[in-house]
Amino acid sequence: MTRYIFITGGVVSSLGKGLLSASLGALLQARGYSVRLRKLDPYLNVDPGTMSPYQHGEVYVTDDGAETDLDLGHYERFTGVPSRQSDNVTSGRIYSTILEKERRGEYLGGTVQVIPHVTNEIKDFVLDQDDDVDFMLCEIGGTAGDIESLPFLEAIRQLHNDLEPNQTLFMHLTLVPFLAAAGELKTKPTQHSVKELRGIGIQPDILVCRAEQPIPVGEREKIARFCNVRKSAVIQALDVSTIYEVPIAYHNEGMDTEVLRAFGLPYDEKPDLSRWENIVGRIQNPEGEVKIAVVGKYTELLDAYKSLKESLVHGGIANNVKVNIEWIESEVFEQEDAMSRLEPVHAILVPGGFGERGAEGKIAAVKFAREHEIPYFGICFGMQMAVIEAARNMAGISDASSSEFSNDGTNIVGLMTEWKSEDGSMQTRAEDDDLGGTMRLGEYPATLKAGSKVAEIYGATDILERHRHRFEVNVAYKEKLEAAGLIFSGLSPDGRLPEIVELPNHPWFIAVQFHPELKSKPFEPHPLFASFIEAAVKQSRMV
Ligand code: GLN
Repeated sequence: MTRYIFITGGVVSSLGKGLLSASLGALLQARGYSVRLRKLDPYLNVDPGTMSPYQHGEVYVTDDGAETDLDLGHYERFTGVPSRQSDNVTSGRIYSTILEKERRGEYLGGTVQVIPHVTNEIKDFVLDQDDDVDFMLCEIGGTAGDIESLPFLEAIRQLHNDLEPNQTLFMHLTLVPFLAAAGELKTKPTQHSVKELRGIGIQPDILVCRAEQPIPVGEREKIARFCNVRKSAVIQALDVSTIYEVPIAYHNEGMDTEVLRAFGLPYDEKPDLSRWENIVGRIQNPEGEVKIAVVGKYTELLDAYKSLKESLVHGGIANNVKVNIEWIESEVFEQEDAMSRLEPVHAILVPGGFGERGAEGKIAAVKFAREHEIPYFGICFGMQMAVIEAARNMAGISDASSSEFSNDGTNIVGLMTEWKSEDGSMQTRAEDDDLGGTMRLGEYPATLKAGSKVAEIYGATDILERHRHRFEVNVAYKEKLEAAGLIFSGLSPDGRLPEIVELPNHPWFIAVQFHPELKSKPFEPHPLFASFIEAAVKQSRMV
C-alpha cells in the first residue's frame, strides 16, 4: 500500500518546502522505504517551459522530456529517483485537460465545475503511476490562503477520506519569526496559517516551523495546543550551513520518527545517514578552494542556474575542495578591458542560455579560456558559442554565427526541425510551431569517440543525457573544424547531431549539447563536473 504525505506551506513563501520534501524523501529511504516525490503547482501556465528564468528559476527537464519545476531537481538530487512528467502538474495543465475533455463532449452535457471535475483531475494526478512505492510525497506549491491553491487543498482533503485510515498525512511548513523589539519568537502567524487550513477541513498532523532561533519548549507547547497537534509533532527547522545537512537536521529533530509514528509504522531503529554525514563532512572540511567563473545571462537570479550551482558543489565534493562561483553577466565581455576579470579564475563555464543578448560576450569568454589555457566547460548554449568561436578564430569562418540570432552570417549553428528518437522514430517540428513543446527535450543517447577525453572521463562510449534545445551545431562543418583542431568527440548514434566537442591540445576544454547538471547528485557527482573541478584544482596550483 502506498502512503501519501501532503506537504503544504504557510505564512510566507520561500521557506524551503521543496527541500523539506526532498529531505523527508531521503530520510524515508534511509529507513529502507521506497519513495516518489511530486509537485502540484497552482499557477495557470501549462508547464514552466515558457516561464522566464527571472521569475521562476530553472526549468528542470526529466528523462521523459517534461519541462518541470526546479523543485523536482531537489527531489532527484536528494533521493536519486528520476522524476517524470507524471511528477509535476500545474493548474494550467489540469484546466487544459478538462477543457479538452469538455470540447470532446466527454462530460455528456453535464455542468463542469471545480468540485468535482477539477478536484477529480487533481486526485487522478496524485494517484496515477504510483509504482507501488511505500511513500508518495506530494508538495503543494503556493501558500495556504492563496485563492489559486484552493482546488489542490480541497483535493487532498478529499483524498484523506477516499483512502484508508492511516494512509495519508498532512505536513505543514510555517514560519516562527523572531521579533527583535519584543525579544521573542512569535507563534501567531503559525496559528493563523493552521486555522486557515482547518477552515477548509485539513488538520495538519505535523508542523514544521522555520525559525532563526531555537524554539523554546514553552512556545512549542503553545503551538501544539493552539494548532491541535501533539507536542512531538512540532518540528523546528533552523538554518543549516549547507542544504545537504537538512536531512540530518530534520532527523535530529525527530521528523522521520514522527512521520512513521503517525502512520503506525515501527520507528525504533536508527536510519543509516552515513551518506549525508559523509557529504556534509566533505563540504565542511575542504582541503582547498577553486574559483570558477560562470559567464551567463541570468546571473542576478541564481535560481535560474540551480542545478548548475549544485553540480559545481558536487564536483567540489568529489575533489574535496570548496568551489567559489563568480557569476558574471556575459555582456560585460563585450568591452575588451573587462577580460582581465577572467585572469584570476581557475576555470570558466558558459551555461545554457537563449537569445542573442550577451552572446558575443560568451564567445569572448570562450576565446579567452582557449587562448589562456584555462579549463573551459560549455553547456548547451555554451557549446554552441564554443563552436562559433572555433569556427571564427581557428577555422577562419569569420562570419560564423547561429540562426538563433539572424540569418546574416554563416550559420554553423542552426534550427533543426527533425531528430531521431531512441526508438528510431523521427520527431519533427515545424519552424513556426508554438514556442511551448518545440524543443529537443529529455534523454537522448550519444556515442563517444574511443580514446577521446570525454570517453576517458565517462569510462564509457555510450551515454544518455538530458537535452533542452532548439538549435544544433551543423554536422556539415565537422571536417573543417576537426582539421582546425576542434574534435567532435560525441555524436548522436546516427552521426547527425554533434553532442560533444573538445580541444585535445588544451588542459581541459569540453563543451556538450546536453545538460549534465540535471543528473548530478551529491552522492554521485557527475563525471564531467568532477573532472572539470579536478582541472580547476590543477589550474589553481599553477596561478
Ligand atoms: N538557445 C539554444 C538552443 O535553443 C541553447 C539552449 C540551451 O542552452 N538550453 O538550442
